[in-house]
Amino acid sequence: MRLLVLGRSGQVARELARVADDGHEIRLVGRDEADLSQPEAAAEVVRGLLREFPAQAIINAAAWTAVDAAEAQEAEALAVNGTSPALLARIAADAGLPFVHISTDYVFDGAGETPFSPDAPTAPLGAYGRTKREGEIGVAQAANPAGWAVLRTSWVFSAHGANFVKTMLRLGAERDTLRVVADQIGGPTPADAIARACVRIAETLAAEPAMGGIHHFSGAPDASWADFAREIMARAGLPCRIEDIPSADYPTPAPRPLNSRLDCRSTEEAFRLARPDWRDGLDRVLTNLGARV
Ligand code: NDP
Repeated sequence: MRLLVLGRSGQVARELARVADDGHEIRLVGRDEADLSQPEAAAEVVRGLLREFPAQAIINAAAWTAVDAAEAQEAEALAVNGTSPALLARIAADAGLPFVHISTDYVFDGAGETPFSPDAPTAPLGAYGRTKREGEIGVAQAANPAGWAVLRTSWVFSAHGANFVKTMLRLGAERDTLRVVADQIGGPTPADAIARACVRIAETLAAEPAMGGIHHFSGAPDASWADFAREIMARAGLPCRIEDIPSADYPTPAPRPLNSRLDCRSTEEAFRLARPDWRDGLDRVLTNLGARV
């Protein structure tokens, strides 16, 4: 499939670049080409690119992901996460192309202990979640007859960029003990699995546009950050002890949802995409980084 992908150096974007190995033709669009903080200008660039590159679907893997910085820069984050995705979704609809957009567990307030279903009420706790929710609404409102999907995921990790796995490997090599939050529960999700899911969804929408809508995709089993950290240390052979702490002991500018569990059944039913086991993804990442024992 010929795929136009917004994002180039991000975790998911880099993994999307690698699906070219599976016979797909991928055109990645970085911030230097289309800056989503300037929605109208970026939209013009994307319209031009579609004239050169006859894409069969558009995947938006670009986002303002600096969760805490968004608290002080919500307008800028909104341009990237809200206004631009709405415009991109409209471009895809006008061009008759399926549109796949990635969103987040942070659209929920994290109350309770049961997994959130795709149609559960949203109530973001912070600016990042609010801007991502605006993006979801914009994508849905474009009502793309060629098909649209919002794939909410959580706790993304990969061998690239800044993420929890890489932070734990660095700190675990320096310290004997680390205090890690144990009362936030969610599904760590390997970026390579998200990339493959986006492609599968684009292919499915191209054949059956009505399969779209909002869907969830996160790694299994659900775990706490502390559980995740322990698994990282064990698989990397680092003798660092993980001490459980409550979120209250690790204050951040943007509050985090305590319950990030996502009910992913609709994704499995619509797209035959089962929740990926994050421990397998962790092994792949550690092997890539030369850190697996
Ligand atoms: P990264 O932070 O690794 O990458 C962000 C990407 O967005 C980069 O490719 C970057 O572009 C691009 N980008 C940022 N600002 C702009 C801008 N102004 N104009 C154009 N492009 C921009 O993100 P992830 O790969 O981790 O996230 C992918 C998706 O998953 C996002 O939608 C995110 O909201 C969502 N998500 C992420 C989670 C996480 O834990 N990271 C959790 C849940 C959902 P460039 O390549 O040019 O630098």
